[in-house]
Amino acid sequence: MYDYDLLVVGSANADLVVGVERRPAAGETVLGSDLAVHPGGKGANQAVAAARLGARTALLARVGDDAYGRLLLDTQRAAGVDTVGVLVGGAPTGVALITVDPSGDNSIVVAPGANARLAPGDVRAAACLLQASRVVSAQLEIPLETVEEIVRNLPDGGRFVLNPSPPRPLPRAVLDACDPLIVNEHEARVILGASATDGTPEEWARLLLARGPRSVVVTLGAGGALAADAQGVTRVPSVPVRAVDTTGAGDAFTAALAWRLGAGAPLREAAAYAARVGAAAVTRRGAQESFPTAEEVAAL
Ligand code: ATP
Repeated sequence: MYDYDLLVVGSANADLVVGVERRPAAGETVLGSDLAVHPGGKGANQAVAAARLGARTALLARVGDDAYGRLLLDTQRAAGVDTVGVLVGGAPTGVALITVDPSGDNSIVVAPGANARLAPGDVRAAACLLQASRVVSAQLEIPLETVEEIVRNLPDGGRFVLNPSPPRPLPRAVLDACDPLIVNEHEARVILGASATDGTPEEWARLLLARGPRSVVVTLGAGGALAADAQGVTRVPSVPVRAVDTTGAGDAFTAALAWRLGAGAPLREAAAYAARVGAAAVTRRGAQESFPTAEEVAAL
């Protein structure tokens, strides 16, 4: 019997957002709107998305001993995430500095801070948490060595889900553990490197599968997704909605997919559910603020 449906191992950031008429050029200073501070980071986002759907969720992450760290802990707890695995200290909380212009284009600088200090030893120290979790998921806003350590410490029969964002080439041991590897088109291209040239998403899904994962999901924004495993590649249709803000759609999709797979749903069924969750998330502004409850997904 597992205590958690999902353990998310990943980043937690404070997103500091300023609206500007024009993003500054080198050496230029521009005045912007009031500062807005939002909880973010792919790990924190995916944990909140899963908990909001009703998954028993824990987060393994590192934040600083500062006001942003406390904001992140508070928002995780308010969403129902177990924060027993959130380590405090070692560096300031990770911060994303975001300027957004009126057309919605943004420039982002990330100071990884404490996220870069989530170390392999922290994974070993959290062995009980891993053993207590039906599914363990990760992204790449933490050190790759830490992700490699997760793979070495998975519970017998446990499932590992990886969303390699931001993308980089992955070692074979990590690829082999993924079930599934969840990528968008940009991430697929980076991981495949030269072999992605001129390919279609269906071809990328097959090429990625040949690199080791037991299953692969390629998300295609409003185009839905592709689910690929030994049975072949299937298109998962998107749910038509009026998109207001696509921020966090990938995090909502990934969390929902990981949770449904852990509950025993077959890949295509879990991906269809995740597509509904991703669609619901784009109908509202923000990332964590936009994630739906299971009732809202059912009503979509
Ligand atoms: P992000 O980095 O912005 O969080 P992503 O690029 O990782 O997103 P997407 O492929 O944009 O991920 O979105 C994930 C899933 O959410 C899609 O596969 C789709 O099912 C759903 N989705 C995203 N955008 C839309 C949309 N405009 N309409 C309906 N569904 C959408």
